[in-house]
Amino acid sequence: MANYLKRPQGTEDVTPERINKWMTVEKVTRDIAESFGFSEIRIPTFEVTELFQRSVGETTDVVQKEMYSVIAKETQFTLRPEGTAGTIRAMLQNGMLAEALPQKVFYQLSCFRHERPQAGRLREFHQFGIEMAGSASPYADAEVILLGKTVLDRLGLKDIVLNLNSIGCPKCRAKYQEALKAYFEPHREELCETCQERLVRNPMRLLDCKSPEDQAIAKDAPVILDYLCEECSAHFEAVKSALTSMGVEYVINPKIVRGLDYYTKTVFEFITTSIGAQGTVCAGGRYDGLIEQLGGQSIPALGFGMGLERLILTMEQQGCAFFEEKKCDVYLAPMDADAKPVALKYAYALREMGVRAEFDLLDRSFKSQMKYANKLGTKYLVVLGSNELEQGRGQIKNMETGKQHEIRLDSAANFAEDYSGISLAEMFDTAE
Ligand code: ATP
Ligand code: MG
Repeated sequence: MANYLKRPQGTEDVTPERINKWMTVEKVTRDIAESFGFSEIRIPTFEVTELFQRSVGETTDVVQKEMYSVIAKETQFTLRPEGTAGTIRAMLQNGMLAEALPQKVFYQLSCFRHERPQAGRLREFHQFGIEMAGSASPYADAEVILLGKTVLDRLGLKDIVLNLNSIGCPKCRAKYQEALKAYFEPHREELCETCQERLVRNPMRLLDCKSPEDQAIAKDAPVILDYLCEECSAHFEAVKSALTSMGVEYVINPKIVRGLDYYTKTVFEFITTSIGAQGTVCAGGRYDGLIEQLGGQSIPALGFGMGLERLILTMEQQGCAFFEEKKCDVYLAPMDADAKPVALKYAYALREMGVRAEFDLLDRSFKSQMKYANKLGTKYLVVLGSNELEQGRGQIKNMETGKQHEIRLDSAANFAEDYSGISLAEMFDTAE
């Protein structure tokens, strides 16, 4: 096959056959975000590269290895690898942070990272994400985590473990970074190249390295929770007790430092074992320093990103239910050329009432029209033959039950009126 006929590695087509799965996660995430008082925001697909360097961080995998960047007319742009940086940039640029706080937004968007494609790891993937700016309260952390959990529960997912940690503030982290340096220094030569550099610039990043050798070395590294200052420690206790009061279970996982530089205090991941190694379906936390770091006021903020492909993969693995796509309600089968304009008109009359109606567009024989109608999962079939049209009446057949009803075919209005009556009556039939 010619190369231009193949989709790029690490991307996916979502054909109509699978679209119901996407509609399910998109609808559920939207509904739940709105019920928590979050409004949708839409941001550009690309931003000036410096935005990501300054926010995601120079020592992260994303910035060091995974960004898709281009120089266009002398400015360097990058396809967004995540949604937080662009969202905070938009909040700043549109004056949203000068309005009543907290500002609470959600998004459903595509992200781009140059990674090695595998199950649950793509080069173009999609995130549902939320960001809340303006609250330092531990209840805000609890709300954000609870929103994520509500989505996972509503989708019917099981066996997803909430991993919780606090990575403190710059104050507690300074001492911790020193301890990490001392711990890793004797192993410097054994570390991967990226981590040798991280040891100098940002040792905490070492804990996030994907290399098994580095992970083995990091196994007994000091844990941040032993270094938290009083304020961060009290905050973490309050988050935990708010979650406990809501019956939310969690495990403390000191290895979670998150892949992005901007996090402070609470960090968390919802992890499943159903889909193998790429098991984090939702990840987030607090990033109190980011807005100021980007040139805004000092405003605390937090949020999460949920990978929609991983979510769907997990749902498939666990046999969770997806919404069924609406099928064809009425299929009109014109038997000859004269019946075509009638089919066109009657189909339109039904659509005006919100009914999903279709008719033959390929001059098919009666038999192959039946076959096609069946394939569409048609509920009702109406044959438009010359006899029926002459007499001004015909039959509408329920394809599931085989039951037939007489229906007027003398005008579109009468046809539509009869259809409503019949489908309503049948609905009551089945309800009994
Ligand atoms: P990982 O450790 O798996 O690389 P990350 O820390 O890079 O994840 P985040 O930047 O926190 O991931 O992104 C939030 C969520 O987006 C992840 O938990 C995951 O569900 C999803 N995600 C991240 N990268 C990819 C990818 N390449 N393909 C599919 N989903 C992804
Ligand atoms: Mg990653």
